[in-house]
Amino acid sequence: MTFRASVLTLYPDMFPGPLGVSLAGRALEEAIWSLKATNIRDFAAGRHRNVDDTPAGGGAGMVLRPDVLAAALDSVADGRPMLALTPRGAPLTQHRVRELAGGEGVVLLCGRFEGFDERIFDARPLEPVSVGDYVLSGGELGAMVILDACVRLLPGVMGAASSGEEESFETGLLEYPHYTRPVEWEGRTIPEVLRSGDHAKIAAWRHERAVEDTRLRRPDLIERHGGASQAPPSGARRRDTKADKK
Ligand code: SAH
Repeated sequence: MTFRASVLTLYPDMFPGPLGVSLAGRALEEAIWSLKATNIRDFAAGRHRNVDDTPAGGGAGMVLRPDVLAAALDSVADGRPMLALTPRGAPLTQHRVRELAGGEGVVLLCGRFEGFDERIFDARPLEPVSVGDYVLSGGELGAMVILDACVRLLPGVMGAASSGEEESFETGLLEYPHYTRPVEWEGRTIPEVLRSGDHAKIAAWRHERAVEDTRLRRPDLIERHGGASQAPPSGARRRDTKADKK
């Protein structure tokens, strides 16, 4: 079963772009997912094929017309979730990514200029989604972010290496830090515990670091998920009492 992605954009040439290489690119070749980028301008009427017009009420920039957007959306709508990229949307989460990746695919509507005529959100089942609290010049990079996050979760894409379950956000925490060879580099060594071979100790250390780093860098995640009450990985439990004493 192929995960089908349709992207509606004024710049279809941007696709697959970075999604054509590495994990996502190989999965695309293997038809684990498919990608179709459609030009919104194909749905504009008239000699000038206008997709936008000036904002009602005045102000700078141009707004994408709802009639053109609706025609573009209707051409690909088939029951898949339809997401519109906008900084006014709900921030994308790993939870939502996992839901999307578990479905048949997704339709992604990319804005440009000042964005969409608001009426499109009432007229079509469009979910406004943001990729972060900053403003991009277009929705295309956001669409790529969403697709990249989904595709790596599709069965057969990451292989046996990881189901992604221990990764950042999956547990409500950031992931623990990683190290690799050389064991000593510029006078810095890999934490002793990671070289101990004691899997329970390692799991406990990793859980502690995940909690600690999340507290420091993303206190908002701790608030949202109840942080320290997160169950440590099973291997970590045995060491909890010891860890508490230090
Ligand atoms: N005037 C708008 C921003 C328009 S930016 C506002 O202030 O809300 C142009 C387009 O880039 C948007 O229509 C949207 O599709 C995309 N975009 C910009 N920032 C984004 C973000 N953080 N998340 C998702 N899409 C974004």
